[in-house]
Amino acid sequence: MSGAAPSIAQAVSCLDGYDPDALRVDRARAAIHACLAPVAEMETVPVRDALGRVLAQDIVPGIDVPGHDNSAMDGWAVQSGDLSSSEEVFLQEVGRALAGRPYSGRVDAGHCVRVMTGAMMPPGADTVVVQEVCRAEGTRVAVPPGQKAGQNVRAAGEDLKAGVPVLHPGRRLRAAELGLIASLGIGEVRVRRRLRVALFSTGDELASIGTALKPGEVYDSNRYTLRGMLQRLGVEIADLGVVRDDPALLEAAFRSAAASADAIVTTGGVSVGEADYTRALMAKLGEVLFWKIAMRPGRPMAFGRVGGAFLFGLPGNPVAVMVTFYQFVREALLRLGGQSDALEPPLLAAASAQPIRKVAGRTEYQRGVVYRDGEGWKVRTTGQQGSGVLRSMSEANCFIVLEHERGAVKAGEPVQVQLFEGLV
Ligand code: AMP
Ligand code: MG
Repeated sequence: MSGAAPSIAQAVSCLDGYDPDALRVDRARAAIHACLAPVAEMETVPVRDALGRVLAQDIVPGIDVPGHDNSAMDGWAVQSGDLSSSEEVFLQEVGRALAGRPYSGRVDAGHCVRVMTGAMMPPGADTVVVQEVCRAEGTRVAVPPGQKAGQNVRAAGEDLKAGVPVLHPGRRLRAAELGLIASLGIGEVRVRRRLRVALFSTGDELASIGTALKPGEVYDSNRYTLRGMLQRLGVEIADLGVVRDDPALLEAAFRSAAASADAIVTTGGVSVGEADYTRALMAKLGEVLFWKIAMRPGRPMAFGRVGGAFLFGLPGNPVAVMVTFYQFVREALLRLGGQSDALEPPLLAAASAQPIRKVAGRTEYQRGVVYRDGEGWKVRTTGQQGSGVLRSMSEANCFIVLEHERGAVKAGEPVQVQLFEGLV
C-alpha cells in the first residue's frame, strides 16, 4: 500500500453506525465513498470520441450560441411598431433571408422581409409573423391583428453566452454535451483517462466455456456478467480469467491485477466458509475489510485496497454479483473515474401487484417487472428469488428495493423500484 494514502480502517472508523458484521447498505456505501480517490491523469480526445468520458476542464463559450438573433419560424420579419391589435395591416416585402443567407438591407417602417427558420433577423425587425396567418399578394403582405412584439425570435446567446462557463470538470459527457461542445466550435476536450479495472472469478468448481463440465462443476458465468456491466461503464477491462481456490494462485492474480489496475473486481471467495483464507492472504497484500452487509442477496463482500488498486470482492452467487455491483461498485467506479455527480440509481414508486415476504433489518433487492395497467404503474416479482437464479435478472426490468426497516408488503402497497433500463 502506498504510504501517502489514508488507511481504509481510519477512513471508515469515524463513520456513524459502522459495524462490519451487520452493515447497512447505506453505511457500506458511505464507507466506500469515504475511501475513494479519483484517477488524476488526463488526456485530450476529439469530441466525436468523447461519449461517456469524464470532462477534466471547464467549457467556457468563446462565442454566443446562437451568434445572432434569428427567426424561429418561417414567415415575415417585421417591426412590431407597425402591427395593430385590432386590424389587419399591409406591409411591403423588400427582400428575403434564409438560414445562412442574411438580408443585406434594413427593415424600415411599413416594410417586411420574408424569413425562413434560422435566418438572421434583418436589422430593424424585432418580430416574426408566421406564414400560416399571413396573406401575400405579390409583395404586399397582409398581417392579422393580435401579434405579440418580439414573438418567434430566438435571441443571440439564448442557448450559450460567451464567457459564461457551461460545463465543469467531473461531468460525464452524453450525446447532449457532445453537441453542446461542438456548437461552440470546439473539436477536442480534456478528459480523465479511462479507469482500468481488472477482474477475475475464483472457485475450484468453475469451468471455462469450451471445456466439458466435470461432476460438480459449473460454467463461470460471473465473468461474463461482470464484463458486460463493466463495459457499460466505459472502463478498460483486464480479464484475468478463473483463479482456483489456491492461495499461491490467488496471490499471483492479485499481484498481477494490482500492478496495472485502478480497481479489481472479483467474485467468490468471500463467503463465510472461504473468507478466512482470503482474509489471511489479503492481510499480506493490502488492506481489505470483510463485511457482512444487511442485504439480500449479497451478504458477504470485501472492500479495500491491494497495492494501488481498490478491491471489490463480490460474492460468488450470480444474482448477488449483479446486485452488489449495481448497489456499490458501479457508483464507486464512476467516482473513481472522476465523475463528480455519480449517484445511486434513482428510486421510483410503483404499486406492488402482490404481497411480498420481507423481514425488517435488511435491504432486499427483489427482481421485478414494472408494467402499466389501467390503474397506473405496478410491479410484480419474477417469482423464484434465489441468489443463484440468474434467470430472475434476465426476466426482470427492475429491482424492487425493500428498505431496511420495512416488513412484509401487502398487495397494492407502494414500493420503490430501480429501473434496469440504461443500467444493466
Ligand atoms: P462462493 O461465494 O464462492 O461461496 O460461491 C457461491 C455460489 O456461487 C456457489 O454456488 C458457486 O458455485 C457460485 N459461483 C461462484 N462463482 C461463480 C461463477 N464465476 N460463475 C457462476 N457461479 C459461481
Ligand atoms: Mg467459491
